[in-house]
Amino acid sequence: MSGHAIVVGGGIGGLAAALALHRIGWQATVLERAAELGEIGAGMSQAPNALRALAALGIEEQARAAGVPTHASANMRTPDGRYLQQARTDDPTALLAFHRADLHRVLLEAVPAGWIRTDAEVTAVRQDADGVTVGFAGGELRANLVIAADGIRSTVRQQLWPDAPSPRFLGRTAWLGIAELAGLPGSITLGPGGYFLIHPVGRGRAYWAYVTTVEAPGIRYEREKAEVARRIGTWHQPIPSLIEATPEQAVIHIDIRDLDPLPTYVRGRVALLGDAAHAMSPDRGQGAGQSLEDAVVLAAALAGEPAVEAALRRYDADRRPRTQATAKGARADGRRTTSSAAYRAMTTMIRLMPAPLWRKGIAADGNATWRWRPPRLPSPATRC
Ligand SMILES: Cc1cc2nc3c(=O)[nH]c(=O)nc-3n(C[C@H](O)[C@H](O)[C@H](O)COP(=O)(O)OP(=O)(O)OC[C@H]3O[C@@H](n4cnc5c(N)ncnc54)[C@H](O)[C@@H]3O)c2cc1C
Repeated sequence: MSGHAIVVGGGIGGLAAALALHRIGWQATVLERAAELGEIGAGMSQAPNALRALAALGIEEQARAAGVPTHASANMRTPDGRYLQQARTDDPTALLAFHRADLHRVLLEAVPAGWIRTDAEVTAVRQDADGVTVGFAGGELRANLVIAADGIRSTVRQQLWPDAPSPRFLGRTAWLGIAELAGLPGSITLGPGGYFLIHPVGRGRAYWAYVTTVEAPGIRYEREKAEVARRIGTWHQPIPSLIEATPEQAVIHIDIRDLDPLPTYVRGRVALLGDAAHAMSPDRGQGAGQSLEDAVVLAAALAGEPAVEAALRRYDADRRPRTQATAKGARADGRRTTSSAAYRAMTTMIRLMPAPLWRKGIAADGNATWRWRPPRLPSPATRC
């Protein structure tokens, strides 16, 4: 089966969906509300499951060239600098870290030129037995299928899933930044009530994030950089230097929200994908990775089923259990790693774990989330 799809949103999920459609011989139009395409934000890591999805999309090599191996989950530290677990310099690592814009660019370069329309905010989606009509700033378009990858506050979800609850504030907040500091290996420092993450992201830059608890969303500071430095206080180097090296205007402060599980990701010829379907707490580093998986599974279903509705049902049945379990796990991880009450038990457990066992857990097939394998997409060369 082939056809024409409209993808709403040109973030990592939307571009992955467009590329996956291209791989199976569909046409697509990506409608992005921003005037320019790009990723705002700082860095991220991609785990083996996401890297396999990138391989299925045909861009593994480009992604590996843009990413940087990070030992973040191997170097676990406490605020005084002690190691609870420590990577050896020759250890392999299963995680790749990216500046967000770099991963986004890899996807963008693989999507056919001319498929993307910016300044195209989608405001309405109507479907009938034969297709879907999308109203956007700039006109109307009709297609066989709509993939809504328009993020955690998805307009399409609000229209077609009117009963779905709004994103849930999780009682956590995060400061993020990119600093010019070369040679950092990646680490996570666990403090009572919060953690500090570092990833190298290439070209002499490091990404950092400090995640902690907060009573209410929306609390902001005149000088965010000074605030995060104050909270970190005397934590070990290079944390204070990283914050210091980050330009004030480059410090991002966001509150953490996720979505309660939806009963379905599909309504007729419309499918939710990425954060629009399953926005999750960032504590497992899986949100964008799951959107890459979504894209591959959706394309495989379209390639394998005779009708759009059947393909979308297959996509829904495949993706909902996995993404919702991942979101549930991420929510629990975030609660635990920012809990003052659980701090002593958590750090003792990590310190006492034999190093080989810890390494096994963070190897490429070390946990159920990372073990995922993509379905096979018909290769562009063999497609008829
Ligand atoms: C602090 C933090 C750290 C994270 N770290 C990681 C990590 O390490 N690894 C990982 O895999 N994930 C991570 N994530 C999650 C990841 O950022 C998201 O899951 C991912 O970016 C979602 O991509 P998306 O394309 O679904 O949505 P988005 O990135 O939100 O993109 C949606 C796009 O749709 C556009 N849009 C919105 N509404 C409309 C409309 N009506 N019409 C047209 N266009 C529209 C927007 O402009 C945007 O371009 C993290 C998240 C946070 C908050």
